[in-house]
Amino acid sequence: MSSDFLYYTVAYVVIAVCLVLPPTEFISAGLTVQNVLSGFLGSEQMNFIHFHVRRTCATAFFHSVIPLAYYLFGFCVAETITDWLPWNQRLPWQLFILCSITLPLITSVLIFYWSRNKWKKHPIAQSLERHAPQGSNWHSVASSIDVEFRRIDKFTSGSHGKRLIVTDSWLIQMSTYTLYIAHQSDLHLQLVGADEHSISPEHSSGVQFLNIIVNTVNTAVKPFSIRILASDYNELRTKLQSPIVNARNVMIHQSLSDRFLAAFTEQVERNEVFHKPMDMELEPCIGCMQEQASVKLVKLCDEQNEGECVPCYCRPMWCLSCMGKWFCSRQDQNQPQLWMSSRSPCPTCRSKFCMLDVCAIV
Ligand SMILES: [Zn+2]
Ligand SMILES: [Zn+2]
Ligand SMILES: [Zn+2]
Repeated sequence: MSSDFLYYTVAYVVIAVCLVLPPTEFISAGLTVQNVLSGFLGSEQMNFIHFHVRRTCATAFFHSVIPLAYYLFGFCVAETITDWLPWNQRLPWQLFILCSITLPLITSVLIFYWSRNKWKKHPIAQSLERHAPQGSNWHSVASSIDVEFRRIDKFTSGSHGKRLIVTDSWLIQMSTYTLYIAHQSDLHLQLVGADEHSISPEHSSGVQFLNIIVNTVNTAVKPFSIRILASDYNELRTKLQSPIVNARNVMIHQSLSDRFLAAFTEQVERNEVFHKPMDMELEPCIGCMQEQASVKLVKLCDEQNEGECVPCYCRPMWCLSCMGKWFCSRQDQNQPQLWMSSRSPCPTCRSKFCMLDVCAIV
């Protein structure tokens, strides 16, 4: 075996693996099946299900031609490889060529079979069919998902072809050749484990991933698993209609802002309270419009005219958690160790305040 042949094989295997399981560098350079074929796939935003039917077919076909392309490139393009011809005569090599030609043929037949009757046999259509109410078909489920996917308040986590999407009524986990779909009202989610990585390509610090098993009441739908970053866990929970059961008491590492918010709330509970005058009406928080305003800024850390903080005379307009998020957003994101002792301007009058000046209204 010549060294040229070995180099070519190793290089080809590395490139093929990168195309099948694209690392972050490939994704950011746009070197994915999805990007290269974006013209053929159409718009995911406008036609979510149709896009993924085409994406999975294109991906399956692309993967099936990898062995054949290895042979064709080596034989036709790389002329420096001199010992291809003697290899051509050997049985294992001939078997390889036979398989590499058969594989794309089988895949083409399979895709043709999927596409009959408006893609009725495609794995995604089959999985949607299980959610179709009596008397309707998978197309009505597809259009319901398409409509909800266009909304901006959907939850998305994960990268590229492994995304988890939660809309108002659906939970969708993407995979290479299909989509796992469950209706929100059928869900039983169970947190089964967590794994930690000290270094991840996307994050300089350590990250924790949570593994969740999705069971559904719908017996036609098989259980599947999802995997999310621990920092996305709270957002996922707020988007879901049912709770995530943590029977094994898995320790969840919260995101920095979640941890800060917990410390902020604790500090405010220790601070002096603000007694609401009889004639003061509390309005909905202007940050979230859901909670009532629940904190008032009163300069307590120092004498009225001393120190960096400035008295604020605004009426209460914010709830505790929105005030915490605001405080957090005004800090130097690279120096979290300083947040607790820092100051932030009042969201309305810009007077500086510290955490000791945030009073819960009673
Ligand atoms: Zn609020
Ligand atoms: Zn103010
Ligand atoms: Zn202060």
